[in-house]
Amino acid sequence: MSQATITTGGCLCGGIRYEIDGPLAPIQLCHCTQCRKAQGTAFAANIPVPLSRFRLLTGRDLLREYESSPGKYRAFCSHCGSPVFSRRDSMPQGVRVRAGLLDGDLPTHPATHAWVESNANWWDIQDELPRFDKAMPTPSI
Ligand SMILES: [Zn+2]
Ligand SMILES: [Zn+2]
Repeated sequence: MSQATITTGGCLCGGIRYEIDGPLAPIQLCHCTQCRKAQGTAFAANIPVPLSRFRLLTGRDLLREYESSPGKYRAFCSHCGSPVFSRRDSMPQGVRVRAGLLDGDLPTHPATHAWVESNANWWDIQDELPRFDKAMPTPSI
């Protein structure tokens, strides 16, 4: 008998808290220049989540969005700066949460590298996961 799983997450200051119902999709590592700048790291670790399974618990007033390219929004905490999720007008059914904000051990793991052509020259990709020069062929969300 499987138990309903709930994964919780939140920003650095704790003002924004959310929960996700059900299993988590594989983590998509994105090396694109925008993700690097938005996260301040070599890549972003993104998990697509259907909106129907994503619940914002606190901090709606803290959430701000930056439209990093037309129709694509990166939501962040206006108090501590944590990147919370991104979303696209063209895919209104879901958001892509940043895995680093999730609490505890996750029941998922990285599965792909995207935008490898933009990978920082100071970061060696050393695993054997599938790599895509540009975007994933069929982004789910
Ligand atoms: Zn915060
Ligand atoms: Zn990216």
